[in-house]
Amino acid sequence: MVTRMDGAADSDLINSITPDVMTCLRRSLFFERLDDLLFPKEDSHPREVCIGNYELSKRVLEASDFDSDDWQDIFNVLRAKGGCCDCEILYNVAESSRMKSEYWKSRGDGIHGKTKHPRTA
Ligand SMILES: [Zn+2]
Repeated sequence: MVTRMDGAADSDLINSITPDVMTCLRRSLFFERLDDLLFPKEDSHPREVCIGNYELSKRVLEASDFDSDDWQDIFNVLRAKGGCCDCEILYNVAESSRMKSEYWKSRGDGIHGKTKHPRTA
């Protein structure tokens, strides 16, 4: 577990595992799958909404080969890169996503829709 007693993540350890975690996430198509949940290609399934946590990410990880012991490390890495919730992962961590392009197309509507969720994770 990559946490100290005060709950703060050990940044040295996070830095050391970041390249490997990112490689695993890319290989498992984590970002593409998350992108597809929040911004589906077609109307094949309803668009999910980020509610300010890792709910959708957990669903993607669950469907991949990650077991829940890995999740804490993965989310520590994502948080360190600015991904404090599902939509921020796509916006701040993924190199490219439909969400990002759609965001810039429709700036002003707000990326979270009407309700802005709190920045807690
Ligand atoms: Zn969000």
